[in-house]
Amino acid sequence: MTSIEPDGKDWTWVLDRRCDECGFDPAGVTRATLADRLAAGAAGWHERLVADDARRRPFPSVWSPTEYAAHVRDMAGVMVGRLTLILTEEDPSFADWDQDAAALAGDYASEGPGEVAAQVGSAVGELAAAYAAVTQEQWDRPGRRSNGSVFTAYTLGVYALHDLEHHVHDVRHHPGAPRS
Ligand SMILES: [Zn+2]
Repeated sequence: MTSIEPDGKDWTWVLDRRCDECGFDPAGVTRATLADRLAAGAAGWHERLVADDARRRPFPSVWSPTEYAAHVRDMAGVMVGRLTLILTEEDPSFADWDQDAAALAGDYASEGPGEVAAQVGSAVGELAAAYAAVTQEQWDRPGRRSNGSVFTAYTLGVYALHDLEHHVHDVRHHPGAPRS
């Protein structure tokens, strides 16, 4: 199996400015709309993953739609765990999550599109529900990654929403080249 280049890039800049690749603009996300935007991102995966090319990589170094969906499924699960930590502990540190190692360990490339479609829908739905339950006084509660990046309940949600919408964009638009 051809492996994906590890993406060591720090994507936290998406909290501050628009992503030119997918058009995501953090300024357009509010506490009031975050859960609904996440919920909207749970839809459409089934339709994409029943297509003939659901397991095909457009380029050797670009994930197939099924692999992207498996990544989004696991990302949503990680973010639910991080949000829970933020809401239940004082300024917690998050356990590391290496998305590329997770892809290899989980053998995303061999997963069945139909199963992954169901799983990504429910995982993103759970993340949306978790955000729908965040109360006014909880939005600014902090947490941090091991690399020092500080998040709040709100910015973690914006970060997760970008990851979700970016990959929805990826699988709809068949990227012409690997992101770098
Ligand atoms: Zn993006």
